[in-house]
Order: sequence, then C-alpha cells, then structure tokens
Amino acid sequence: MAKIQMKTPLVEMDGDEMTRILWQMIKDELLLPFIDLKTEYYDLGLEYRNKTEDQVTIDSAEATKKYGVAVKCATITPNAARMTEYNLKEMWKSPNGTIRAALDGTVFRAPIQVKGIEPCVKNWKKPITLARHAYGDVYKNTEIKVPGAGRAELVFTAEDGTEIRETIHEFDGPGILQGIHNTDRSITSFARSCFSYALDTKQDLWFATKDTISKKYDHNFKDIFQDVFEREYKDKFDAAGLEYFYTLIDDAVARVMKTEGGFIWACKNYDGDVMSDMVSSACGSLAMMTSVLVSPDGVYEYEAAHGTVQRHYYKHLEGEETSTNSVATIFAWTGALRKRGELDQIPGLMEFADKLEKATLQTIEEGKMTKDLALITSCENVTVLNSQDFIRAIRETLESL
Ligand code: NAP
Ligand code: MG
Repeated sequence: MAKIQMKTPLVEMDGDEMTRILWQMIKDELLLPFIDLKTEYYDLGLEYRNKTEDQVTIDSAEATKKYGVAVKCATITPNAARMTEYNLKEMWKSPNGTIRAALDGTVFRAPIQVKGIEPCVKNWKKPITLARHAYGDVYKNTEIKVPGAGRAELVFTAEDGTEIRETIHEFDGPGILQGIHNTDRSITSFARSCFSYALDTKQDLWFATKDTISKKYDHNFKDIFQDVFEREYKDKFDAAGLEYFYTLIDDAVARVMKTEGGFIWACKNYDGDVMSDMVSSACGSLAMMTSVLVSPDGVYEYEAAHGTVQRHYYKHLEGEETSTNSVATIFAWTGALRKRGELDQIPGLMEFADKLEKATLQTIEEGKMTKDLALITSCENVTVLNSQDFIRAIRETLESL
C-alpha cells in the first residue's frame, strides 16, 4: 500500500532515557511503515541541550510557532544529580518550562479510557480533563537563598520611575525567598482557552484558586475568569446548558472525588502539574493520559504527561527486560498527526491517527498490555508484554483493522 503523504513537517522534539527508546520504536514500527513522515527534528536529549547551551530548546519552540504543530518526547529536567551524571555546564531549565513560556497557553490533559482499566475512584464514570495554565508562577520564578539577617522587599518600578514597595519579611537569620509573576494577558488567554474548550467539548468548567489567602495574586485569576465569562461566554454557556463553577482549590479537590467526572477542571500552573498526575494515576497509570499545549494563537504541542521513566531506563541499560507503557507517547504522535492532517486537509492522515489509537486500545482490551496495566486490569487472560513486544502487538492489531 502507498504511504500516506504529508505536506508540512511536524516539529519533532526527541527526548531522554526510556521514552527516547520508545520514541524510536514507535517511529520504526507504527509510523514509518505507513506514513511518508515529514518532520523537522530537534534533539532535546540532555546531552545535546548541554552541547548547544540549550539553544536547541529555544529553536524547537520557534519552529513550533512557525509550523503550528509539534510532538515532544519526555525530557530530563536537570537537578544536582543530573549535573554530575551528564557532566553539565549549567543546570539547564526545564524544556517544558521554556517551551510553555515561549508559546504561552494552556495544557489540556485527559485520561485515556479503555475497557478493563477502571478508575480507582469508583464513582468516576467519565474522564476529567485538566486544563493547566502553562505560563508563569513558580515555573518562571526568581529565588534567593537568604544568607542571614536582613530585610526582604518586593519592589515594582513603573516605566516613569515611580515605585511600589512592600516589605516581605525582616529576617533574623538565614532563609529563602521566591518571586513569581503572571500577566493579565496570559491569564485572559488561559480563561478564553478554557471557556472555548468547554464549549467545543460540551463540558462544564470548574476553576479554583486560593483567593482567600492570596487576596491579590490568586484573586486576580478569579476576577479575570469571571469577567471574561460574563463578557464573552455566559450566553453561549446558557445556550449550551453548561455551567461555569468557581470554588476554592481545597473545596474543588474534595468535590472532585465525589463527582461522576465529565467536566473540565481549570488549574493554575502548579495545581495542574500535581492534579493531572493524581487524576491520571487514579485512572490507571501515568501513561494513560493525553497532553496537549494549546497556545492563544492556535499553536499545538502534543506530549506524554509522564517523565522519562528513569528507573526502567537503568534496567534497560543493564540489559534487563522492561515493560514500559508507550500509550501516552503513541497518543502524542496521533494527536499531532491528526492536527497536521486537519490543518493541511489530509483526511488519510487523520484516519490513520484514529486507526492507530483504536489499535492501541483494542490491543489492551484483548489482554495484551504492559506490566503497569496488568497489575490493575479487570481483564482475564492477560499477557504481560515487554516494551518492544507491546508495540509490535499494536502493529499486528493495526494491520488487521
Ligand atoms: P516518571 O518518568 O513519570 O516516572 C515515575 C514512575 O512512574 C516510574 O518509575 C514508573 O513507576 C511510573 N511510570 C511513569 N511512566 C510510565 C510508563 N510510561 N510506563 C510504566 N510506568 C511508568 O517520573 P520521574 O521518574 O520522577 O522522572 C524521571 C525524569 O523525567 C526526571 O528527570 C524528570 O525531570 C523528567 N520528567 C519529564 C517530564 C516531561 O518531559 N514531560 C515530566 C515529568 C518528569 P515504576 O518505577 O513503579 O514502574
Ligand atoms: Mg508533573
């Protein structure tokens, strides 16, 4: 059969450790035999980021703005241990942080549901989609390790030189300080992407912050959401029979546990980071979740929500067998290919993406799965497959569809 042709390249961001191994297997087994795959390749593996002094990450973000669609492999965010392990020149920033700061926007994450893997929160009947603000707060912070006694102040200097000054703390000994920010522009576009996505997918929208404690910072998020809702979306929500619901973050967490699901939960950057891991692992595995960054000007970056699965990689390096789940990484590719097909009007590419997702889920439903899922499935007659054989089993299903 002739391979599916592409018009515009996808921005391909390769990554690290076990997910880098899966990346190549997915391309070799599930993509290259069927598609004349066009990509512009950026190696975001830590070694090459270090070699280019992280320029490659910035270049990949710029390429994403140019082409509109990217697919990203999980990458290492360096810490002290990685400095020695990879002999780094600097503790490079999180590539996701850099890319999100460049593209702005919102990350939408939804569990991948499959028969035989039931959420461990038993009343969750429908998926809960997390909408994570992708700009600012603690991900774009400035920190000081306070060496000893002294005064810490927060100072804003306006363009005309006038100052706003607040005392943060009078230190009587060593401590720590952190400066974070956000912008009304970014919060407004976050609000718009959430309301639009809720209308597109016909789901209610929840939003929560800690505005009772953070009376200016978090309160500003609450006010902007309310304002955007009333001015631009209330009528559309009423017409569609949908609800926008604001509450405190701790109340939201408690209520989420009691719901049936089937709504979008908008979260500030940090809350979204933490809560999406909770929702995905409650739905089976970190590897059973899709993740897409949508920028206000319509640029899309698809990725897996989990990390580089370091523990499995070290086993792999020692020649041991691994059973790492590639579903989220496969769905990052299908998401990107489907979007590319939609933008370039290539129905064959969109159909292929649907078919590959179907083949992936059907393979699991037939009892062929990786160890993380085998541990929790209600399927009988389960065959636990290693990383490579799971991908080969999906290829077999794909060819049978
Ligand atoms: P992780 O890679 O998400 O893995 C944590 C644990 O979750 C694994 O040890 C494994 O549990 C399980 N797991 C995650 N993905 C799995 C999969 N696909 N199949 C099977 N099990 C899976 O998080 P981490 O170990 O904390 O972080 C490793 C590196 O990833 C770090 O350097 C971090 O900076 C980076 N990271 C990158 C991203 C990103 O690029 N988006 C996100 C998060 C973390 P068991 O060991 O029990 O099998
Ligand atoms: Mg996280």
